[in-house]
Amino acid sequence: MYGLYIHIPFCSAICNYCNFNRGLFQEDLKTRYVAALLEEIARTGDQSPGVGADTLYFGGGTPSLLEPEEIGRILDACAAAFDLAADCEVTLEANPETVTASRLAAYRAAGVNRVSFGVQSFRDDELRRLSRLHGAARAVAALGEAREAGFGNVSLDLMMWLPAQRLDQWLESVDRSIELGPEHLSLYLLEIYPNAPLKDDMARAHWSQAPDEDAAAMYTEAMARLEAAGYRQYEISNVARPGRESRHNLKYWTDGDWLGLGCGAHSTRDGVRWKNVASTEEYIDRIGRREPTAVDVRRLSADERLGDALFTGLRLVGGVSLKDVDSRYGVDVWQRYGRELEPFVEGGLLRHEAGRLWLTRRGMLLAHEVMIVFV
Ligand code: SF4
Repeated sequence: MYGLYIHIPFCSAICNYCNFNRGLFQEDLKTRYVAALLEEIARTGDQSPGVGADTLYFGGGTPSLLEPEEIGRILDACAAAFDLAADCEVTLEANPETVTASRLAAYRAAGVNRVSFGVQSFRDDELRRLSRLHGAARAVAALGEAREAGFGNVSLDLMMWLPAQRLDQWLESVDRSIELGPEHLSLYLLEIYPNAPLKDDMARAHWSQAPDEDAAAMYTEAMARLEAAGYRQYEISNVARPGRESRHNLKYWTDGDWLGLGCGAHSTRDGVRWKNVASTEEYIDRIGRREPTAVDVRRLSADERLGDALFTGLRLVGGVSLKDVDSRYGVDVWQRYGRELEPFVEGGLLRHEAGRLWLTRRGMLLAHEVMIVFV
């Protein structure tokens, strides 16, 4: 079964740290984009009849800037083009300031059954530093509105290692999340890319990020608190109540196939990987001219596929089964990489037992150092 990813590239304002494929919301552009998206979905369905999907994910950007009726039309187009499972997980990323109880109820009626809120922090000072449009009270209200609208599967995104953030301040957001009780949480370390406007803001205001050891403590203490509260970590950055793991994102980490629709969306199918053109205008133009939207189409070599499967599989707490990898790729992983991996096992970052390979929690903090072996 495939996962479907649908990219919505619009935001009400551009956050000072954001490195995603997005632009400012314009009503007219949005209307033309939705029409193009409907066309791409129908065309993809015609070209690949019989594709079954059991997850569908609206990511962005800010997908909740689309009207519920537009989300409904996109879902109907997907149902017509693909063979959607009856229990398809349908996630909508939403920013707290864009929703109300009635709007969320309308998304739910349209077929969305999981909401993922970009909360980032439950402290107003931190949200202001990130130039987010919402405050902590709005985020709390949004979660309540989602419950009122009947959503039983809600995720929150939080970010740690924010400018001028101390460990105790970060843990306030973790504790607040636990009190609110979402089914799923994603916790990311803020990465500041070289040209981010946030860099200038930080220099002007003399904000700095806490030392590396504090970032490590933010991560490990948050995971410990969440586990004590009944959440289970299942991936480097994700925890969930049992059975509430993101089925869609698991496809990325378990060597699955997915189709990405919309500008800049990535796809992987039977070892071929491609990406749609990133520019919203160019995407719409190409659809209008009936030209392919895909750029960078590449068949991965056997080694690249193996490397990817190990690289992404190690993100999971359960790691990878070496027997499964062997039967899929015909490679004895330990024979091929054991010499390079052994120092990580000795250093306590990696475990190799009972035919599995997985990162320890300390290893998750240094995951890139281990994973580089496979790239
Ligand atoms: S809302 Fe999200 S996608 Fe939009 S600018 Fe902010 S971080 Fe980027």
